[in-house]
Amino acid sequence: MTREHLIKPVLDHHYPTIQYGKGVFLYDDQGKAYIDASSGAVTAGIGHGVQEIIDAMLEQAGKVSFVYRSQFTSEPAEKLAKKLSDLAPGQDYWAFFVNSGSEATETAMKIAIQHWQEKGRQGKNKVISRRMSYHGITMGALSMSGHVLRRRRFIPLLEDFPVVVPPYCYRCPLNKTFPDCKLACADDMETAIKRIGAEHIAAFIAEPIIGAAGGAIVPPEGYYKRIKEICDRNEILFIADEVMTGIARTGAMFGMQHYGVEPDLIALGKGMSAGYTPMAAALVKDHVMEPILKGSKSIMSGHTYSANPQSAAVSLAVLAYIEEHQLVRAAELKGSYLLGQMRQMADQIEIVGDVRGQGLLLAMEFVSNRTNKLPFPSELGITSRIIEKSFQKGLLVYPASGAVEGVGDAIIVAPPFVITEEEMDQLVRILDESIREVMAQVTR
Ligand code: PLP
Repeated sequence: MTREHLIKPVLDHHYPTIQYGKGVFLYDDQGKAYIDASSGAVTAGIGHGVQEIIDAMLEQAGKVSFVYRSQFTSEPAEKLAKKLSDLAPGQDYWAFFVNSGSEATETAMKIAIQHWQEKGRQGKNKVISRRMSYHGITMGALSMSGHVLRRRRFIPLLEDFPVVVPPYCYRCPLNKTFPDCKLACADDMETAIKRIGAEHIAAFIAEPIIGAAGGAIVPPEGYYKRIKEICDRNEILFIADEVMTGIARTGAMFGMQHYGVEPDLIALGKGMSAGYTPMAAALVKDHVMEPILKGSKSIMSGHTYSANPQSAAVSLAVLAYIEEHQLVRAAELKGSYLLGQMRQMADQIEIVGDVRGQGLLLAMEFVSNRTNKLPFPSELGITSRIIEKSFQKGLLVYPASGAVEGVGDAIIVAPPFVITEEEMDQLVRILDESIREVMAQVTR
C-alpha cells in the first residue's frame, strides 16, 4: 500500500475524490452524485461550475493574478470594496481583504483595538463574545470563540476574553421564555460590562444567526437593537461576524439587515467568493477608520494574498451573478419552502426537537426526549451518525455540535440558492430516511 501525504481532517477516514460539480450536485470519481445541501461549508452559495465565474477568473488571469498590496492596487479590489460598501447595512464602509473567515474576524478585532488606541484609549482591548459562538480557528479568532471542542487543545494559549449568554430560546441559558424574559440574554452584556469595565472593552462580536456553534439559532425580536444600544452607550464597537450569514445566505444580502442594526465592523468570508477562490474581508465603518486616518494612517495587519486581484474579480462576478439572478430573494423564498417541508417531515420523527433558521440557513436539533428536550449522550454521536448516513445516500449536510458541553446536537441544511423545488423535495426525502434509520439504531 502506498503511504498518504495529504493531512485530512480525520486521518483514518476515507474521503471520496470529487471530480466535478454542477449546480447543487458534486460527482465523485466512482460516478456517485451528492446533493450539496450544505454548500460545502455553507460556502458554495451560487452552486458549482457556474460558467460566468469561470469566465471572470480566466479574464482576470489573462491580465494579472497577483500584485503585492504594499506596491500596487488593482481595479477588481477597488471595485469590490465599493460594491460591498454599497450593499452593506448603512453603507460607508472601508474594506480590508483577507483570505479566510478567521482572518476576517481577527482583522476586525485588531482594527477595533487599533481604533481605540489611536484615540488614546489604550486600555480598551478586550472583545466580548457569546458562550455559543464560532469566529474562526486562528488564535485570535479562537480566543473570541465559545466553541469548547475547537478551543480545548489550545486553552493555555488563548486570550481569556469575556463571554455572555447566547440568545438560544429553544434552551434558554437563563431558563426564561420570550417575551416574558424581556431580553434578559441581551442584558447579560450590560452585566458583563459592569463587571469588566467599559474602559477595558473594545468590541462585542456576534454572528447574526449562530451557525456552526449551535445550528441556525435565530435571535428573538429586538435582541440586536438592545445589544447595539448597550454597545453604543458604553462606547463598545459592534462586530457582526457575517462569515456564514453574509451574501444572500439568510434571504438578505447581510444577516444583520433582518434586525435593522448597522454594525461598526463586519467580517465576511465563505459566500463572498462562493468557494471559487479564497476571499474574505473585514468591513469597517467610516467612523471607526476616522482616528486611524488621522493617526497612524495604516492598519497593522495584512497578508501576502490580501486584496488579491484574482479573488477580487471572482468575488465581483459572484455578486453580479447573485444580483442578476435575484438570488437574495430566491434564498428567502426557497428557505421558507424548505423550512416548511423540514418541519412537516420532523413532526413525524420523535428525535427532532427543533427545526429553525432563516432563508437558506436552516437546522434541525436532535433530542432523546421532545418534552424535556433531553439531549442524546454525546458518546452516541447522533449528529455524526446522521451526517454519515446521509452521506452514504448522497446527501451532504453540515454539523453544528460540540460547541457547548451537553447541548446542541444539530445539523445545518444550507443548499445553494439555485436549488430547485424538486431538488429540495429529494433532499428532504433522503434526510427523512437517514434520520429514521439512525433513530431505529439508537432507540432500539
Ligand atoms: N466565523 C463564522 C461565523 C464561521 O462560520 C466561520 C467558519 O465556519 C469562521 C468565522 C471562520 O472562517 P474560515 O473557516 O474561513 O476561517
